[in-house]
Amino acid sequence: MTTFSLWGLLVLVAVGGAGAAQAGDGGPVVLQQEVSVTLIPESHALAGTSTISFAAGTGRVELGLCVAARIDEVTVAGRGVPFSFAGGILSLELPPGGAAADHPLTVSYRASFNDPVASSPAAGEDPSYGVNAAITGRGTFLGGGSGWYPVPQQTPKRRSLRVAAPAGMEGVSFGRRVSRETAGGVTRSHWEEAHPVSVLSLCAGPYQVEDRRLGAIEIQSYLYPENAALASRYLDAAAKYLKLYGDLFGPYPFEKFAIVENFFPTGYGFPSFTLLGGSVIRLPFIVDTSFPHEIAHSWWGNGIGVGGGGNWCEGLVTYLADYLLKERRSPEEGREYRRQLLVDFASLVPPGADFPLRRFESRSDPASRAIGYGKGAMVFQMVRSRIGDPAFFAALREICRRHMYGSASWEDFERAFSRSSGEDLAPFMDQWLQRTGGPRFRLAEVASRREPGGWSVTGSVLQDAPGFSLELPLRLEAAGGAVTSTLSVSGERTSFSIFSSGAPGRLLLDPDAEVFRILSPGEIPATVNSIKGSTRLVGVLTEGCRAGEANFRDLLASLTQGGARVLREAELDRSQAGGHDLIFCGAPRDRSLLPPLPDGVELSGSGFSVQGVTYPDPDGLLFLVLKVPGSGRVAALFQPLSEAAARQYVPKITHYGKYGQLVFAGGVNRGKGTVASGEGAAAVRLQP
Ligand SMILES: [Zn+2]
Repeated sequence: MTTFSLWGLLVLVAVGGAGAAQAGDGGPVVLQQEVSVTLIPESHALAGTSTISFAAGTGRVELGLCVAARIDEVTVAGRGVPFSFAGGILSLELPPGGAAADHPLTVSYRASFNDPVASSPAAGEDPSYGVNAAITGRGTFLGGGSGWYPVPQQTPKRRSLRVAAPAGMEGVSFGRRVSRETAGGVTRSHWEEAHPVSVLSLCAGPYQVEDRRLGAIEIQSYLYPENAALASRYLDAAAKYLKLYGDLFGPYPFEKFAIVENFFPTGYGFPSFTLLGGSVIRLPFIVDTSFPHEIAHSWWGNGIGVGGGGNWCEGLVTYLADYLLKERRSPEEGREYRRQLLVDFASLVPPGADFPLRRFESRSDPASRAIGYGKGAMVFQMVRSRIGDPAFFAALREICRRHMYGSASWEDFERAFSRSSGEDLAPFMDQWLQRTGGPRFRLAEVASRREPGGWSVTGSVLQDAPGFSLELPLRLEAAGGAVTSTLSVSGERTSFSIFSSGAPGRLLLDPDAEVFRILSPGEIPATVNSIKGSTRLVGVLTEGCRAGEANFRDLLASLTQGGARVLREAELDRSQAGGHDLIFCGAPRDRSLLPPLPDGVELSGSGFSVQGVTYPDPDGLLFLVLKVPGSGRVAALFQPLSEAAARQYVPKITHYGKYGQLVFAGGVNRGKGTVASGEGAAAVRLQP
């Protein structure tokens, strides 16, 4: 399986995932598979038939089908054959001489699927919301891993699917839509794939369907009536991004692209369609964030599967969608996105949770996301800035030409980048793929000296052994303009010398966040993510806590800190406080436990005020994450004005990971910000 993805319900800019289950490589060659299913929503059931043609000479056959399926009949060329069905595997021996295209195997079966669909799922990292397959009156989702049809070990060379459902219930799946009609109380559709990949998923619902065409690509929307008005916005965006990515990577690999609404809030990218929950589709920013991410997965993750160990596709798609679209809007947005990736890694990946990028398979928590998506994206950023745009995108196009409808590995990327640039990039990439963490650079021994015509600034960049080798940007701010220099860093100490004609001011290391490195504590702002990434968090219930202990514990759980110890303020002794990150419910009586509040934030007896706006109870919630000066620790204040406010806003806080100051009132976020971080070890001031 490649990575699944999900979104929380309301307020996050999440990236999705390629949601296709992969078939294995073993087993006999399958020339063709036809699947035909009738959905029966009132009994959560389906009745199916599948006809499969194996290559001549095939003997033993194994098909995966859901454990609870009932098999009515298995025939070869119309005659019943013996079979066994146990543990979700249907096995049989094909009669010799048969099994070619004119002697296909046919399986008739019934199954029911009714995974409970939560109406308001909790925030979390489970990509499927626990739903692998459900056939309901509201909609149908049959994921590739659920065994809703007999799945051969190898992906067939050709595949088709016919879906029948009660009138108005439109089915949608992989491939080209050959036909679609409603007659005699039944809605039918027929789908065909010229280049099948992975295992089929099927959706159905009371969709309003709209079609458009972009060259050879059909673009379709399958939206519930409540969201049907959004169709043209998504169809326009699909055309725009399919064109952009087609120009960058080469032809779009599938016959159609569809935006399909789900009846629970997933975000899946399947081969040839994207499945988004209705609440997600309505969020205004999705069309230019998660949506292009899923479209990029059409090439990376779906068209080309992840092979060879190590999931490269989330890092690459994060880079080519989430990041690249920002960079194209403005260099500043690109720089801020890169910096945020570094902040996320430093905040969310404590040493015990780190692992080499090479071992990333799918995200299961904030740390694995910061590694697989964030560090992965930065590796592609470093390769691109090292070899330049022409060589970088030429390599991506070459991988598409060579590997489409198959799979690619990290090594295939190393080889393609090396070929297109003429430099062996394997050693450079391997250090990021095979080692944990990254370099922690420090500037040392920096001095300036007057010389004829200007100043010479010398010094060293230090890192811990064994050191990473990379091109490190340095910027010297000087009277009359900045001087930029790129230093080839390797080993524990690399010396440099920069000449400037104007008087030097500040020397900055990697000022635009162009390389992957572990930020120094001074560069990392205190944010919600600092709480998520803490390995030494203690919750403190003060007398002023209006949330109630249960809501406070819910908050901790939503920040992946459900295991943190919770004390009353009276139980907290000073020495203990000094060794931990603290999160207070309500302001502590001993205010010295809390760092000074940011400018413009004031607590009062019955409420709080931010920038002159007072939030009186009972509605309103303030959440602050602050650095404890000189300690490397953080302290957070969770200040809801009532239990009801706590209940209402607690589930939202986790979605604001990069912020350190949040205000909620009137049901919505009213303010978000972060106290600016400093320069830490990445800057040296040469003159007062
Ligand atoms: Zn993704």
